[in-house]
Amino acid sequence: MTAPVQTDDVVIARAPAKINLHLGVGPLRSDGYHELATVFCALSLTDELVAVEAERLRITTTGEGAADVPEGPTNLACRAASMLAERAGIAPEVELSVRKQIPVAAGLAGGSADAAAALVACDALWQTGAGRDDLVQIAAALGSDVVFSLTGGLALGTGRGELLSPVLAAGRWHWVLAVADGGLSTKDVYAELDRLRDGRDVERTLELPDDLMNALRSRDTAALGAALHNDMEPAAFSLKPALRRTKAAGLDEGASGALLCGSGPTMAFLARGEKQAVDLAARISGLGVCRTVRTAHGPVQGARVVG
Ligand code: ATP
Repeated sequence: MTAPVQTDDVVIARAPAKINLHLGVGPLRSDGYHELATVFCALSLTDELVAVEAERLRITTTGEGAADVPEGPTNLACRAASMLAERAGIAPEVELSVRKQIPVAAGLAGGSADAAAALVACDALWQTGAGRDDLVQIAAALGSDVVFSLTGGLALGTGRGELLSPVLAAGRWHWVLAVADGGLSTKDVYAELDRLRDGRDVERTLELPDDLMNALRSRDTAALGAALHNDMEPAAFSLKPALRRTKAAGLDEGASGALLCGSGPTMAFLARGEKQAVDLAARISGLGVCRTVRTAHGPVQGARVVG
């Protein structure tokens, strides 16, 4: 009998979606970014990426929303692989296959998750010898959410969201994600926020969310539900008024709290436990107010090689 051949030229990685339990958006900076104070939470909703040696860089995407994901070099996972190869001084000879579970353009940072998965997978495939700091540096150049998807867990993000410090809190929280029909462009939501603010002073919004931190540490679901906050909500609700109704409907169905995910248009509802999340998901699904409903828990770990 022949023993199975051990091969290192296929690497499988998985990376998490995120929600922001708090998203404070400060003034527009001179570099075009907004100053943020945010609390990220990595979710058990993940994309899986397989990296295989190939003659040139290629990507295929299957699963949730695959048709809306770019196939060429603008795909964030391709950009991540190219940047890592360049840093290592090698050619990016890899085929990436992404199986998406994270809805596209939903405010859940699916593209960033794919980039984080590509970084850890290609690093393992090519044995680049890059350290954690090198991967974080490449991630930061790709986008703030890529740094978080690499890191995972619960973290406070400042700057434009790329400066992370871990939030130490035990426990697991259960969520229902109501994914709306059609996406919302992050750029459009920021522009709408600036329009609604009309130049008003917004420094105060970047204060650290003490009530949220206390709720996380005390593992108090009702307190966490009350502390959830996203400054982007008025802008997203202005562009997509149905979201306001989705939020109210989920709260009426018994969610302990609700907030917009990132710049939307997904709404996240907090449940008291796993079973409650499944029940709540069924009820929200039955209301017909969104395209699809998912359950997920968090925090979970960041991008990692799984095979
Ligand atoms: P944002 O980072 O803009 O807040 P999001 O979390 O709302 O994004 P993503 O799923 O990351 O949503 O998709 C945002 C856009 O990025 C999509 O419209 C898509 O065209 C583009 N994109 C590039 N690469 C990917 C990828 N690997 N997966 C999904 N989208 C990608």
